[in-house]
Parts: sequence; structure tokens; C-alpha cells
Amino acid sequence: MSSLRTSGLTKSFGGVKAVDDVTVEIVEGKINGLIGPNGSGKTTFFNLVTGLIRPDSGRVFYRDRDITRYAPHRIAHVGLGRTFQLCRVFPRMTVMENMLVAVRRTGLRELLAGTHATSEVERARHWLTRMGIEHLERAEARNLSYGQQKLLELAAVFMGDPELVLLDEPAGGVNPALIERIVTLVRDLNAEGRTFLVVEHNMDMVMGMCDHVIVFDRGAPIAEGPPSAVRADPRVLEAYLGV
Ligand code: ADP
Repeated sequence: MSSLRTSGLTKSFGGVKAVDDVTVEIVEGKINGLIGPNGSGKTTFFNLVTGLIRPDSGRVFYRDRDITRYAPHRIAHVGLGRTFQLCRVFPRMTVMENMLVAVRRTGLRELLAGTHATSEVERARHWLTRMGIEHLERAEARNLSYGQQKLLELAAVFMGDPELVLLDEPAGGVNPALIERIVTLVRDLNAEGRTFLVVEHNMDMVMGMCDHVIVFDRGAPIAEGPPSAVRADPRVLEAYLGV
């Protein structure tokens, strides 16, 4: 079954076709990588499928449901979660508050009044523990290291119980030990049935972690397949190296 599918997805900025007639399928249950040179349309593709920007034409389907015109919160609600290239947390909220506002049911008002459900706090602790940052529950997010903030962002995404998780450069600005930890986490979460789509510049991470890699160049896929095949594909070498 396809988790995410696009059909003829197109978005231009001025004269630039950032995403150009993209028809791709993300198969459920796999760790998928999305790579490509700078400016090849990866971020625009992420923003289109998560509803942050609207396509000029084409459609986005999640588990065969047409979500093309859905607002971002509605897309999250159907089971699609994402992180951002520049990690997004609320700096002046505590780690636990960040977790609780990530849940659709917990509004800011309930949070401030302390009337959120205990079960949500338990769920938040579960995810913080899995990310290894449960000891920071009461710390303000701005006092966490950048790597810890990335783990917090990831933990918060899981409060929405996503089936498909889009990670935008999870290894960016993160030390090698933490990259290893993120890879292990993604593998474990995948083994538990979650699908991933990862945009990442760190080629070792992509090739070592992903089952399937899609390569973008100038707004569209030019190759896809298992890492070993993609790595040896002449079109990919040309896009990256100009050879
Ligand atoms: P990638 O994530 O692969 O680096 P992007 O999706 O960021 O690529 O960019 C694809 C193309 O679209 C680039 O030429 C970029 O300059 C252009 N682009 C992206 N976002 C905007 C925007 N908001 N306004 C104008 N041009 C944009």
C-alpha cells in the first residue's frame, strides 16, 4: 500500500519550477531517503505535501485520501508528521510544555490551567524517554543543546502518533554520536511500523539508513531505488558531480 503518493505535483516561484510535475510513491513501512543537489526542490516538495504551501497543479494522496488542499494541522491529524530543517521548538516553554502543545487536544489554555489529561503527560514522558531526554522535562527548551532540541522536536512529532514521518535534515548541525542515536531511533521506530521520508545531505547516513532512495534534480526525480543502485546511477553522478 502506498503511504504517500503525488501525481503531477508542480510549484513555481516566479520563473523557477521548484517542483516540476512530480509523480512519486512512498511505500508504507520503508525508510525512504530524498536526496538531490541544493535547489533541486526537496524542501518545496516537503512543504507541498505537508500543506505549508499550495501546489500550482497536481495532487497529493495520503493512504489514497486526497489531501491536496488540507491545512497543515489537518494533514498532521491524518497521520503525517514532520520536523523542520531549522529545528522548531518553543524556546521559552519547558520541554514538557512543548510536548503537550504538540497534541491537538491540548490547547494553550488547558496547558496554562494545568487541566491537560494525565495520560498525555504519560505519553509525553514515554517519548521523551525514548529520545533520552526525559531528565530535561522541566528545563526551558532554549536551555537545551541544539541536538537535544532536535530530539525534543522529534519527540513532539510522535505525540501526534504519525504513521508517516518526514524528517528534514535530521543530521544537520548534530554531532556524530547523536547522528548514530537518531539512526538507531529511526530504525527502531520503522521496525514498529512507521514509515519515514528523510531529506538529508549526509550521504553516509542516507545510504546506511534508507531502504529506498529518491533522487531529485531540478525539481523532479531522476532516479530511485535501493541505495547501492542509486549510488552507481550515472544520472545521479552527473547531477551531483556534473560528470
Ligand atoms: P532544496 O530543498 O532541494 O535545496 P528548494 O525546494 O529549497 O530546494 O528550492 C528549489 C528551487 O525553488 C530553488 O531554485 C529555490 O531558489 C526556489 N525557491 C524555493 N522556495 C522559494 C521561495 N519561497 N521563493 C522563491 N524561490 C524559491
